[in-house]
Amino acid sequence: MFKSISVTAVLVTMSLAPSYANAASLQELNAQSGTFQVPALPYAFNALEPEIDAETMKLHHDKHHKAYVDKLNDALPGNKQDLRTILSQVSRHPPAVRDNAGGHWNHSFFWTILTPDIKNRVVSERLKKEIGKKFGSMENLKKEMITKGTNHFASGWVWLIRNPKKQLEVVATANQDNPLMNTVKERGIPILGIDLWEHAYYLKYKNARAEYLASVWNIVHWSQVDAYDQEATRERASKLAE
Ligand code: MN
Repeated sequence: MFKSISVTAVLVTMSLAPSYANAASLQELNAQSGTFQVPALPYAFNALEPEIDAETMKLHHDKHHKAYVDKLNDALPGNKQDLRTILSQVSRHPPAVRDNAGGHWNHSFFWTILTPDIKNRVVSERLKKEIGKKFGSMENLKKEMITKGTNHFASGWVWLIRNPKKQLEVVATANQDNPLMNTVKERGIPILGIDLWEHAYYLKYKNARAEYLASVWNIVHWSQVDAYDQEATRERASKLAE
């Protein structure tokens, strides 16, 4: 009995942790403003092993992501705009805002589309059908993301997006750009994104980016991707191109 009380206490504490990464929504992520903060990881640093090692996770979240947040706060003192507005009008800002607002959004998003929980790795019938319509199969989508991510020169991200025509599409962006920015060619709403920077994989995978991408595919939080896709599909088409 004593044991069950302490388990309940732990569960309550976990559910109160300040993180939008549990059951994340695009709206919540996009609406952040003011002093930006690094969100808590929704799992332990070692929870995604063996695909992503604990040391990489800790450096990536605590050092790299934090540096983007710190530099973003330095670049936008007293900011009142939300993150989505900043990204969709990023051409009006200096490069430091583009790099660090992108870095903050991209990493906050990335943590949410990975999961240690195998139940969350199951693709819903709805999303499977949508992917099938566009790519033929899940396997083809995986191949396209790995190919595009591997062939992308230098640092960047590979994304699965809903484009302004509300079609699914795989695109890659350079540096910390993302498809929400008005400076990129292929715009849309990301529903899945994988970090292509060496800091995301070099400790474990060295230069084998394709191997890293194939491993990440095993730990995708498909129920979160499905939720993002439903949210993106509901958004007005005009807003997508803003
Ligand atoms: Mn990164």
